[in-house]
Amino acid sequence: MTDLLRVFVCTSEAVPFAKTGGLADVCGALPRALAQMGCDVRLVLPGYRTIDRGKFGFRSIGQAEVPLGADRVTVQFYESRLPDSPVPAYLIANDHSFDRQGLYGEGGRDYPDNLERFTIFGRGTLALLRHLDWAPQVVHCQDWQTGLLPVWLRVEPRDRVLAEAGTLFTVHNLAYQGLFPADRLPLTGLGAELFTPRGIEFYGKINFLKGGLVYADLLSTVSEQYAREIQTAEFGCGLEGVLRERADALVGILNGVDYGAWDPSNDPLIPARYTPDDLAGKVVCKEQLQRSLGLTVAPRIPLIGMITRLADQKGLDLVAPTIETILGRGAQFALLGSGDPAYHTLFREMGARQKGRASVTLGFDDALAHRIEAGADMFLMPSRYEPSGLNQLYSLRYGTIPIVRRTGGLADTIVDAAPDALDRGAANGFVFEPYTPEALLGAVTRALTAFQQPAAWRRLQSNGMRQDFSWKRSAARYIDAYRRVIGGRSQGARRV
Ligand code: ADP
Repeated sequence: MTDLLRVFVCTSEAVPFAKTGGLADVCGALPRALAQMGCDVRLVLPGYRTIDRGKFGFRSIGQAEVPLGADRVTVQFYESRLPDSPVPAYLIANDHSFDRQGLYGEGGRDYPDNLERFTIFGRGTLALLRHLDWAPQVVHCQDWQTGLLPVWLRVEPRDRVLAEAGTLFTVHNLAYQGLFPADRLPLTGLGAELFTPRGIEFYGKINFLKGGLVYADLLSTVSEQYAREIQTAEFGCGLEGVLRERADALVGILNGVDYGAWDPSNDPLIPARYTPDDLAGKVVCKEQLQRSLGLTVAPRIPLIGMITRLADQKGLDLVAPTIETILGRGAQFALLGSGDPAYHTLFREMGARQKGRASVTLGFDDALAHRIEAGADMFLMPSRYEPSGLNQLYSLRYGTIPIVRRTGGLADTIVDAAPDALDRGAANGFVFEPYTPEALLGAVTRALTAFQQPAAWRRLQSNGMRQDFSWKRSAARYIDAYRRVIGGRSQGARRV
C-alpha cells in the first residue's frame, strides 16, 4: 500500500524502552494506536545505556556521520519493533552522549552537554531517514529535545527523502525548554540570523522548545485546557506571546491510556484482578498494599495514594503542610516518587514520623505504581499545572477516586462530586481550585467524608471505571492533525 499516512515519531523517551514520565507512555502507546488505524508509523529515540538492546531485539543496521558544528560525529542505528506491534522502533546511539546512567541528568542536575546530546540525536534522526530511504509525510516531534528538527527542516536545504516532510510539534510540558548559552549556537548548525526574538533566542539564550513552537507547521499540546492556559502569562513560561501568535496552529489533544498496560481486569502486576462489577479483588490489593508498605492493615481506613515526579509542578508544597493533618483525620498515605532532593528529605522524614500511617518510597518503581493504583482508595494530584496527566486516568480505571486541582488535563477529565454531578452520574472525583493548602484540605476532607458512605462511593468508582480514555479517540485526533500538516504543505506548495 502506498497511500498509508507515513509518520515518524521522534521522542526522547518511549515505554517500554526508556521512561521518566508521561511522555514515555504517550510515545509507547500512540504509535501502536496509529498502526492499528492504518498508519505507516515509525518511532525513534536515543540509544540510552538503560535500554537493554538484547532484550528488546535491537540489531545494528548501520551508521552515519552527522554534523556537530564543524565536527563530524558518528551515530549508530539500531532497529527493532515496539513490542507486540508492527511499529519499527529505532535507536540513535552515540556512546559519548547516551552511554550514561540518566536520560537528561543525574542527581537532580541536567547534563551540561544536553545541547550537544540532543543536537546529535536530532541530526541522527534525519540521517536515519536517509539511511532507510524512507520519506515521512509528517515528522512528529515531542518537547524540547526534538525542538530543532522543525527548525532544520524549515531553514536547511532538503533532499529527496525529506522533501515532503511536514512537522507537528507536541508540547508535553512547556516548563522544560532546553535553554543553552548563546555561544554554543554554532554547534547546532544554525546561523546567527535565527538568534533573534522571532527565532530561537529567549532572553539571551538558545531555546530548543521555542524552535519547535516557531518553526513547526502545526503545534499541539496534551489537553484542550492546557492549550488555552499556555497562552496566558500564568502558565506560558515566558512563551505565551509566541503561542498566542500561533493560536490558529495550536490544537489540544488529550493523552489516551494504554489499557493493555493499565486495567485492573488484566494487570499482571497487581495481586488480584477486578472489574467494575466485582471489586472483591480491589479489597485484596488494598490489604496487600497496606501490608507490604508497613501500613496498618484495615479495609475501612481510607488510603490515599500518590505517584509522581517530586517536582514543584506537582503541588508538593501543598501536600507537605497538610499531610499530617490529613493523617490525623484517620487516613493513610502511600507516596511513590523521585526527583528534587529537597522533597526526598522532607517526605523521608515525614514517613519516619508517621510509621504505620504513611509510607514513602523514593525511587522509580513501575510495579509498585500499579499496586498503589489498585490498592489505594483515593489518588492525590494537586498539581500547580498539569498538561494532561495520566495518573488520574489510571486511577479512574482502577476505581481509585482522584482528588485533583482544576488545571490542564485534570480540569478536562475530573468532574467534582457535587450533588448535581453525582445525580447525573457524571461525577468521578474531587476537585479544588485555589492553589492553597486550605483548598486541598477541603477537597480531601470531602473525599474522606464520602468514603464513609459506601453506596455513594461505589457509584463514584463505577462512574470512573466505566469511562473510556483509550488511545483510539486521541489517535484519531492526531491523524486529523497530521492531515492538516500535509494539507497545509501542499497548499503552500501550490502557492509558490
Ligand atoms: P508527568 O509526565 O508530568 O510526570 P503524568 O501523570 O503525565 O506526569 O505521567 C507520569 C507517569 O510516570 C505515570 O505513568 C506514572 O505512573 C509514572 N511515574 C511517575 N513517577 C513514578 C515513580 N516514581 N515510579 C513509577 N512510576 C512513576
